[in-house]
Amino acid sequence: MGSHSALQILYGAKQEGLRTKVYCLKGNESLYERFPVTKNIVSIDSYDDLLEIKPDSGEIFIPHGTIIATLDEKALEIPIPFFGNREGMLWEMKREKNLHLLQESAIRTPKSINAENIDQPSIVKFPGAKGGEGYFLCSTTMEFESKISDLLEEEKISKKDAQEVQIQEYIVGVTMYPHYFYSIIYDRVEMLGIDRRYETNVDALGRISQEQMKIAPSYKVVGNQPLIIRESLLPDILDYGDRLSETSKRLFPPGLIGPFCIELALTTEELVAFEFTSRIVAGTSLYVAGSPYSKILFNEEMSMSRRIAREIKLAMGQRRLEELLS
Ligand code: AMP
Repeated sequence: MGSHSALQILYGAKQEGLRTKVYCLKGNESLYERFPVTKNIVSIDSYDDLLEIKPDSGEIFIPHGTIIATLDEKALEIPIPFFGNREGMLWEMKREKNLHLLQESAIRTPKSINAENIDQPSIVKFPGAKGGEGYFLCSTTMEFESKISDLLEEEKISKKDAQEVQIQEYIVGVTMYPHYFYSIIYDRVEMLGIDRRYETNVDALGRISQEQMKIAPSYKVVGNQPLIIRESLLPDILDYGDRLSETSKRLFPPGLIGPFCIELALTTEELVAFEFTSRIVAGTSLYVAGSPYSKILFNEEMSMSRRIAREIKLAMGQRRLEELLS
C-alpha cells in the first residue's frame, strides 16, 4: 500500500528480483512514478477498497502501520495473503494485548495508572496506532479530567476514545526502536537496525528554556534518526527480541513472523518498553542500503524490506512459502 515505508518495500523486493505492485490512493501516484520502484501502480479511492481487491496469483501483501492506523481491525480482512501472521497485528492493535505480550515476556513496561489516582507525571494515550498523535501529559486527576473535557468539547476525541484511554507513568529515558526480524527459514531472531523517532513538538522543547516551557508536548512522528547503541546494551536488546518472539509463539502460534519492533526507553536504571509492533516500522527506511548491524550480519546491503523479499525467496526455494503467509 503506497504510504509509510512503501518506497523501501518496493525497492527491497526489486533488489531481490521479485515483481512489485503498489496500491495507491488516487492523487498520490506521482511519488511512485518519480522513484523507479515499480511500473505497476493501481489507484484506489480509499483504504476500504483494499477489502474488495481481487489479487493476482502469487501476490503477497506487506502490511505496514498505515493499514493499521486507517483500517484498524478491518485490515485483517484484506483478501491478499499477508507476509507475516495477521494475528500479531491484532495483538499490536489492542493496547491491553500489546502490553500483555510484553509483560508475559518479562519485559518491563510503564506502570498503568488509574484515572482516579494520578499523582505523578503521566502520559495519556488514546486507542489506535496514530503515531503518538493526541497524547497528553498530566500529573493529577484534576488536570486529567480538565484536559479530557477540553478535548471532548473541541471534538478532538470521541466519547469512546475517552473511555478507552490508557494512562501510564511517564518514563524519562532516551528512546530507541530496534528492528527485529524473525526468520522461519533460519529459526532465529535477527536485529537489523535501530532508530529513534523524531517527534513533534516534544523533540523541539529542549531548544527553549524551562521558564518558557508552557507548551504542551505532542508525540507525532515526523521522521526517524539512525542510532547505534553502546555494545554493552546489545545483549539486552537481543534478549528482548528473543523473549518477545518466544512468547508470541506460545500466545498466538506460529507467533510473530518477519519484522517486528519493540519501542523502548532507556532510563538511568533500566530498559522500559512502551509497546511492540508486529510488522515493518517506518524507521527501517533509514537503512535502504543496510544498517551497521545488518551489514555485519549479512555482509551485504540488507534492508528490512530486502530481508522480507529474501525470506520469501528462500522459502520458495524450499517450498515453504505458505509458512510465511497468513
Ligand atoms: P506509542 O504510541 O506508545 O508508540 O508512543 C508514541 C511516543 O510517545 C513514543 O515514541 C514516546 O516518545 C512517547 N511515549 C509513549 N509512552 C510513553 C511513556 N510511558 N513515557 C514516556 N514517553 C512515552
